[in-house]
Amino acid sequence: MEIHDARFVVSNSDYKKCPSPDIPEYAFIGRSNVGKSSLINMLTGRKNLAKISGTPGKTRLINHFKINDSWYLVDLPGYGFAKISKTIRNEWEKMLQDYLLHRINLKNTFILIDSRLKPQNNDLGFISWFGENNLPFVILFTKSDKPSKAIMNSNLETYKNILAEMWEEIPVSIITSARTGKGKAEILSMIETLNQNFKR
Ligand code: GDP
Repeated sequence: MEIHDARFVVSNSDYKKCPSPDIPEYAFIGRSNVGKSSLINMLTGRKNLAKISGTPGKTRLINHFKINDSWYLVDLPGYGFAKISKTIRNEWEKMLQDYLLHRINLKNTFILIDSRLKPQNNDLGFISWFGENNLPFVILFTKSDKPSKAIMNSNLETYKNILAEMWEEIPVSIITSARTGKGKAEILSMIETLNQNFKR
């Protein structure tokens, strides 16, 4: 699939106000600085598309982009913020959980993990929450052009071992780089397949 049209639609703080769920939807989430904006821009072939979600006031919102007039890409800015108050964090987590649990056209969530880092507790906590709630997800390891092969393999191995303890089958993951375009074809082809199976 080629993306020939990508446009910002709307930002919401309540999943009930999101656009009518009549086309399939895919969410992208990860801790800030994981490389989410870069990856969304790489996938859509736009320089600044995801910048909209990073502008003040939009960083705690559910941001919808319409792609090829046929599916939504949803930018869900970070979880596990270190520097925000507990009240705001709780509000954000509630909004996020409501969206993830109740958005009926959400076909998959791409959980972004920085391939340079050893497994982080908040990433693992988030991933296991998906498992507990039976929600479909795929892990995207970001910035794969950065670490040496040895560090990369060691981090991936550690992840696989931890995930193997949590699940009978290790969750699907894709290695990506916004810089080289690695992973783009695989992600878009996965979305294309899921789009074909979408029933209203
Ligand atoms: P966000 O906060 O998750 O949206 O992260 P950004 O997309 O803004 O990226 C955070 C930093 O990581 C920026 O300095 C990017 O240039 C850098 N970055 C993002 N993706 C990649 C990548 O694939 N490779 C490399 N080498 N750097 C990246």
